[in-house]
Amino acid sequence: MGLSLAGIPIPDGPGEPVVLAATGVRFDQVTLVAMGSRGDRTAERIRRVGGSIARLIGARRLADAVIDMTDVVDALDDAVFSFCEGLELGSFRFDGYKSQADKIPNTRVVCAFAGGAGNAAKQMRNAHTVAAATNDARTLAHEPANVINPVTLAARARSLAKSAGLKCTVLDERQILKLKMGAMHAVGRASATPPRLIVLEYGARGSAKPVVLIGKAITFDTGGYSLKDKSGIVGMKYDKCGGVAVLGIMKAVAALKPKVPVVGIIASAENMIGGNAYRPNDIITSMSGKTIEIISTDAEGRLVLADALTYAQKRYKPRAMIDIATLTGGVVVALGKVYAGAFCNDDTLRDRLIRSGERTHERLWSLPMHDEFFELIRGDDCDMKNSATREGHASVGAVFLKQFVDPKIPWAHLDIAAVGSIDKPTPYCPKGGTGFGVRLLCDYLTHL
Ligand code: MN
Ligand code: ZN
Repeated sequence: MGLSLAGIPIPDGPGEPVVLAATGVRFDQVTLVAMGSRGDRTAERIRRVGGSIARLIGARRLADAVIDMTDVVDALDDAVFSFCEGLELGSFRFDGYKSQADKIPNTRVVCAFAGGAGNAAKQMRNAHTVAAATNDARTLAHEPANVINPVTLAARARSLAKSAGLKCTVLDERQILKLKMGAMHAVGRASATPPRLIVLEYGARGSAKPVVLIGKAITFDTGGYSLKDKSGIVGMKYDKCGGVAVLGIMKAVAALKPKVPVVGIIASAENMIGGNAYRPNDIITSMSGKTIEIISTDAEGRLVLADALTYAQKRYKPRAMIDIATLTGGVVVALGKVYAGAFCNDDTLRDRLIRSGERTHERLWSLPMHDEFFELIRGDDCDMKNSATREGHASVGAVFLKQFVDPKIPWAHLDIAAVGSIDKPTPYCPKGGTGFGVRLLCDYLTHL
C-alpha cells in the first residue's frame, strides 16, 4: 500500500503488472510484475505470475519480450519449471475459428534465470512438454461436437500416436459389440458417429505391469431420453474432458519417458436420441457379464467407463488403474471448482495422487465409496441400476464403477465434473476446458 515507482502506484497483489515508459532505445516499454514476498513464493504463485505475464504479452500483441527473472527464480529449485509452465499455459488461446484479424500473433520470448543453465534447460523442456500437452487437451475440449466426435477423436489419437511414437489401437462399433461391451454400445448407438474405444500404449510390450489411465470422452451429452433442459445442455461438449486429458497425458508421456509402462484408454461415444437409442428401464449386459437397468440415460459416463475398466483388466495386468471423468453433478455441489473428487481403494495410490495434486495445484479431495452406497443402486430385476436419487450422488457414481474393478488392483476414480471446464478465467487458464488431469497425472507418473 502506498508504494510507488516513478510516480506510478505499485499494486499490492502479486502478478499485477505496472507499466513504465522506457527511457532507453532498446525497449518500447518496461513492465514490472510484483512477485509478492519471498516467503510466499510457492510453485503456484510463480505459475500464476507466469500466466499473468503471458496474458499481458497477448493483450498487448507484443512481437518480442524479454523476461528477467534472475533476481526471482533460481534454476536450482523447481521454480523455472513452474514459471515456464505458467507462461505456456497462460498463452493458451482457442482462436482457430476467428477471422484472421482477431488472431493474436506469436511472440518471441527470451527469459533469463539465475543458476545452472543445464538444470534450467531441463526444467524448461519438461515444463514445455507438460504445458503443451495440457494446451492440446484444452484445444480438444473446446472443439465443438460437430468437429470432434468419437470417430474424429480416434483419428486425432492415431495421428498423435504416430508423431509421438506410441502404439494406437482403435476398436470400432463392430469390435465393441464383438467384445460384448453392451454398456458402451448402448450409450453410443443412437449417434450418427458410432462409439470408439481408443487405446494408446507407452512401453507396454515388456513384462512390467502398466499403469492404465481411462478417460471418459462423451463428445456430446444430450442426456439421451433423460434429456437435459436447454440450459443444462449448453457446454456438454465438455463431457469429453477426461478423455482428452488422457490423450494429452499420453503425448507428454512419450516425451517424459516415465519408468513404468503406461496405457491410455479413451472410451468415446456421443449420447444422442433417436429410434435406436437406449431407454430408461432397458436392461443391458456389460462386458463383465453384470447386468444394469437403465434408470437415467443421462448417467451414461459410468456405463462407458464400466466396459473400459473391464477391458483394461482383461487385456492388461494393471499395476494401477486411474479413471478420469466428468461424471456427476454431485461432485460439483460438494467441492465446487476448488477440488476434483478422488475415490480410491488403495491408500498408497491415494496418497501419491493427492501429493501430485498439491504440487501441480490440480487438487484432489478424497470422498467415500463404501459398500453402503451400493444399496442405493442395487437392482430389483437385475444386478444394479445405473442411477438413483441425488442422495450421495458422486459416491453412487463411484460405487457403481467399483462393481467393475477387481479389489486387488489399486484403482482411483477422479470425478472432474466441476474442474474440467471453467466459466471464470484464472491467471493461467482462460474460460472453457482446463486440461485438468494432464499436469496432475504426468506428475504422478514421473514420481513413480
Ligand atoms: Mn450425462
Ligand atoms: Zn456425461
